[in-house]
Amino acid sequence: MKEFKCFSPWVFLTYKCSCKCPYCFVPSINDNLLSMTSETFERLLKTTQNIIEAGNYDQAIFRLSGGEPLLVWKNYANLVTEYKQKLGGKMVFGLLSNLTILNDEILEWMKQNDIGIQVSLDDLHNSKPLKNGVSSSSIVLKNIEQLEKANICYSINSVFDYEKSGTNGLKELVKYILTKKIRQ
Ligand code: SF4
Repeated sequence: MKEFKCFSPWVFLTYKCSCKCPYCFVPSINDNLLSMTSETFERLLKTTQNIIEAGNYDQAIFRLSGGEPLLVWKNYANLVTEYKQKLGGKMVFGLLSNLTILNDEILEWMKQNDIGIQVSLDDLHNSKPLKNGVSSSSIVLKNIEQLEKANICYSINSVFDYEKSGTNGLKELVKYILTKKIRQ
């Protein structure tokens, strides 16, 4: 039987972010000049299509990240739709996001293209700070409800600061996560 071959590129779409985490791993976070253009993203998809059509791989699973990838959503949304229509399940897209930005148009696009999302949520009250220093928790919790209403698959990724949130914060977060139908 032929071996099924899949590869999973992690795509940094932008260094822009709506948050300002003290532990951010992106070296030039919030440098507005550093975002991938639509042309570059299209070249990436075209090259991947060629690789798949040549029979070298059966599937590509793209992890779209940043910075905050939904800040530059318009740079790649139509291209994702176009290539999903052309290649179907051979190209899969997922987002890694702080979920501080979400609207009906993005939800519809996610549904249409079967896009799941890994949501960053560090704490129910003191999650990642927005640029003004205020916690993003309430916005993210509200947006998780929107994902659920739209039936979008999601998982939660936490960077837990025990000194800041303590045992109670950890218990609350775990309890919250256990109530959710999280993507496996
Ligand atoms: S949300 Fe992620 S990319 Fe944005 S500042 Fe925080 S760690 Fe960095």
